[in-house]
Amino acid sequence: MARYIGPVCRLCRREGEQLFLKGARCYSEKCAFKRRSFQPGQHGSSRMRKKETGYETQLRAKQKVKRTYGVLESQFRKYYEIASRKGGNSGVNLLHQLETRLDNVAYRMGFGISRAQTRMWVTQGHFEVNGRKCNIPSYQLKPNDQVKVAENSKLRTAIKDNLEMNSNREVSDWLSVDGDKLSGTFLALPEREKLDPTIQENLIIEFYSR
Ligand code: SF4
Repeated sequence: MARYIGPVCRLCRREGEQLFLKGARCYSEKCAFKRRSFQPGQHGSSRMRKKETGYETQLRAKQKVKRTYGVLESQFRKYYEIASRKGGNSGVNLLHQLETRLDNVAYRMGFGISRAQTRMWVTQGHFEVNGRKCNIPSYQLKPNDQVKVAENSKLRTAIKDNLEMNSNREVSDWLSVDGDKLSGTFLALPEREKLDPTIQENLIIEFYSR
């Protein structure tokens, strides 16, 4: 499975905002973006973000979402193609493609401290979907699908700790979680207004339909 292996904090600095890719560190004073919020680069002049063209604005809107969900370009483009073939609002369809990924749902349920950690644990076979082991992070969940930490997983204690650590993080209301059973249900597709309001999905659609 291909994935980005470069320094992740650099991605936040490049996008000019916190993308919360590293779990607890993102909320601490150790966050690289809090310490150095200017863009990465050696030269002082790169600290000033130059005026963006329409293309650059669309590109940045796309990169931000792609990086937040930890998806590579080829997969992200595939999501766009599926989203634009479906009826209705392509931008919202695209967000639904991302939101229904198993790694994202398990992360939102609080089983992992970051999408990257959750994705790795999915790949290692620590999760089941509807009672069957599933090690595909991009597996698309449907309403009423159940996600569960495998009974024989060696990570049950670590995942319980994560749930406790994430207890101050509100569980999205399109999901339900049973902490004792280490399981949860994907109840329904989230309405757009419940997702990150700073995402500009219309610009992403414009970027790909150029
Ligand atoms: Fe981004 Fe988290 Fe790194 Fe801060 S600690 S720069 S929010 S990934």
